[in-house]
Amino acid sequence: MDFYIMTLFPDMVTDGLNTSITGRAAGKGLLSIEAVNIRDYAFNKHNSVDDYPYGGGAGMLMQAEPVYQCFQAVKEKIRINRQKKAQEDKPLRVVYLSPQGKTFCQPMAEEFAKEEELVLLCGHYEGIDERVLEEIVTDYVSVGDYVLTGGELPAMIIVDAVSRLVPGVLHNDVSAEFESFKDSLLEYPQYSRPEVWHEKRVPEVLLSGHHANVEKWRREQSVIRTAKNRPDLLEQAVLSEAEKELAGQIMKDDKERGW
Ligand code: SAM
Repeated sequence: MDFYIMTLFPDMVTDGLNTSITGRAAGKGLLSIEAVNIRDYAFNKHNSVDDYPYGGGAGMLMQAEPVYQCFQAVKEKIRINRQKKAQEDKPLRVVYLSPQGKTFCQPMAEEFAKEEELVLLCGHYEGIDERVLEEIVTDYVSVGDYVLTGGELPAMIIVDAVSRLVPGVLHNDVSAEFESFKDSLLEYPQYSRPEVWHEKRVPEVLLSGHHANVEKWRREQSVIRTAKNRPDLLEQAVLSEAEKELAGQIMKDDKERGW
C-alpha cells in the first residue's frame, strides 16, 4: 500500500513513520510512505503558502493553489506507478485531517486498508482555503475532539493504524484479528512470564492448556472490560443473553457509583 502525505513538515512525518513496524514494512516493500512538501509548490518568491483569511479573524490560512499543485504532482506520481504495475486507474481516496471531520475509528482504518493508495492532507495554521478542499478531498477525518497545531500527528496515527492491517506488516496476521474494537469489544487482559509478579498470579485458566476454557475466559473478560470502560461500544456488539446480563450488571454498578 502506498501512502502520500501532503504536509509543510515532511521530516516530522517521515522521522516518526520510518521507525519500528511501519519503517520495517516500508523497508520490505510492503508499504511506501512518501511525504510531499506543499511548500515546494509555493508560487511566490518568498516561498510562502499562507495568507490572511478574508473577513478578518485571527491567524493565517494555507492558500488553495500550492495545495492544489502539490496534489496534481501526487496524482501524477500515482498515475505513473499504477501504469508500471498495470493497475486500473480508479478514483483516489484523499483524506483531509481536520477536527471537523468524522472521528477516526477501527472500521474506518479497515476501509482505508482496502485502498492501493491513500493520500493524506495535513493542514496548519488556521487550516486550508475551503475551495481546494471542495475540489480534491474525499474524506474529512478527525482524531478526536481537540484542536492540534497541524495534521501531521493525525496523519501518522492513520498511517500506523491502517498499515498494521496490510497483510504481512505484522509478523503474525492473527494479532490484528483479535484486538480491541473487533466485534465492538475491547481486548481481554494479557499476561506474560513470570507466573507470579509482585505477588500477583497469572489467572489459573491461562496456564491450564485448556483451549476452550481459555477462549471462554477471554470472551468474558472482553465483555467485562468493555462494559466498564466503553459501554457505548456494546450497542453494536452481538452478545449472548448471559453476556448481556453480565454487562448490564457491571454498567448498573458503575452507574450507582456515579461513573
Ligand atoms: N481552525 C480550524 C478549526 O477550528 O477547525 C483548526 C485548525 S488546526 C489549528 C490546524 C490543522 O491541524 C488543521 O487544518 C488540521 O489539519 C489539523 N488538526 C487539528 N486538530 C485536528 C484533529 N483533532 N484531527 C485531525 N486534524 C487536526
